[in-house]
Amino acid sequence: MTVDSICLDFFRNYVHLETKFHPRVNVIVGENAQGKTNLLEAIAYLSSASSHRARYDKELIQHKMDSAFITSQVLSRGLNFTLEIELYRHARRQLRSNGIRLKTAGELSGLFNTVLFCPEDLYLIREGAEARRRFLDSCICQLRPKYAIALAEYKRLYQHKLRILRDGSEYPDLLDTLNEFSLRMAQCGAVLIHYRAHFIKRLQQVTPVIHRECSGDREHLTMEYQTVSTVTNPEQPPKVLLPALLDHQERHRQAEIDSRSCLSGPHKDELIINIDGSYAKSYASQGQTRTAVLALKLAARDIFFQETGEWPVLLLDDVLSELDARRQEFVLNHIANGQVFITCCEDGVSARLKEGSVFHMKEGTLV
Ligand code: ATP
Ligand code: MG
Repeated sequence: MTVDSICLDFFRNYVHLETKFHPRVNVIVGENAQGKTNLLEAIAYLSSASSHRARYDKELIQHKMDSAFITSQVLSRGLNFTLEIELYRHARRQLRSNGIRLKTAGELSGLFNTVLFCPEDLYLIREGAEARRRFLDSCICQLRPKYAIALAEYKRLYQHKLRILRDGSEYPDLLDTLNEFSLRMAQCGAVLIHYRAHFIKRLQQVTPVIHRECSGDREHLTMEYQTVSTVTNPEQPPKVLLPALLDHQERHRQAEIDSRSCLSGPHKDELIINIDGSYAKSYASQGQTRTAVLALKLAARDIFFQETGEWPVLLLDDVLSELDARRQEFVLNHIANGQVFITCCEDGVSARLKEGSVFHMKEGTLV
């Protein structure tokens, strides 16, 4: 997939921007606060109808304006599409592909995909298990509609069960429904564990290879899936996993009632990431953290390609800082296949780019 061109009107700090892009690597250089991240945000919006850093669409509309527009020519599955996004401060947004209205964000991701790395993603290594579960969920949801359905249902059941546990001491009758919710959570949970195990297995194959290349063969990344302790082999079919989940729930039933919280299930899963045998969350340096996150994102892109035969557009926001020259060289010149966008502040890197275009960004215009 490639973004051939983009046109932005009143999107963030862009009054009007019209530009074509290189099918391979596009480096966007500029000082702070010139609009580099905003441009990647606009491209990412074309694939997901959401922004990684805006809670509300109206944040994307230029101050004092009532609407913003993104229009882009993209190539996907051998076909050209004109994608159009219209954002309004006081009305519903409109999404269109070749002039035809799209009703959901899902329809947009069915046409066009991106993988974004942004500085906030460093949480993937640094923060608690929830961050890594979110990464897994977003990757698997894009590939497996069944997983997305099970995940949504699991989250709904979780909230419901939590309410039962919280209010159970005041209204003991509520606890009669607990088994019913536990059973349904275990059924959905078994689906989640099964898919997560298979996705992690592929991550385990792909990520260390990329990571080794990026770190110049100096570091070795490993990962391990930790799920409900009674599960012996998480790759087994959901119906084989179910009894183990029910067993674990049964053993924790009283503790759940006492602590008024859900203690059993894949909402506690962890993806442990180690670099050279040390727990990355506690020991990785800044550059190592960045390299590990980058390797995970590139692995997700590889797996997406294996599944669909298409390379999602790769958006790397500020990935080069804190990386040594060898790792920067990997990012600039060794990410094979697909279209890549890289933002950075330092102009020096542009001379080192072998295949692609360099854009200089100043106050929302390209010079
Ligand atoms: P850095 O190198 O610091 O990451 P950047 O080039 O990535 O900088 P952006 O995050 O793209 O900078 O932001 C560029 C400018 O856009 C900022 O000055 C910001 O205040 C401005 N901006 C953000 N949202 C809006 C908006 N809705 N209307 C007008 N300007 C906005
Ligand atoms: Mg930025």
